[in-house]
Amino acid sequence: MSYTGYSWECECGHIEYGENPPEECKKCGKINSFAKLPEEIVDEREKNEWEELNK
Ligand SMILES: [Zn+2]
Repeated sequence: MSYTGYSWECECGHIEYGENPPEECKKCGKINSFAKLPEEIVDEREKNEWEELNK
């Protein structure tokens, strides 16, 4: 899986991908609630999901 830019996580746990953080969360409607996620965490999550799918 590949994407450009960064991963952003809202306070509610919703994750968006992009170069800049989304202004508004589509899930909870909060503004400027996104924090940048370290890429290692995302890689780990994707790996776990992949392992789940291929059990
Ligand atoms: Zn949210």
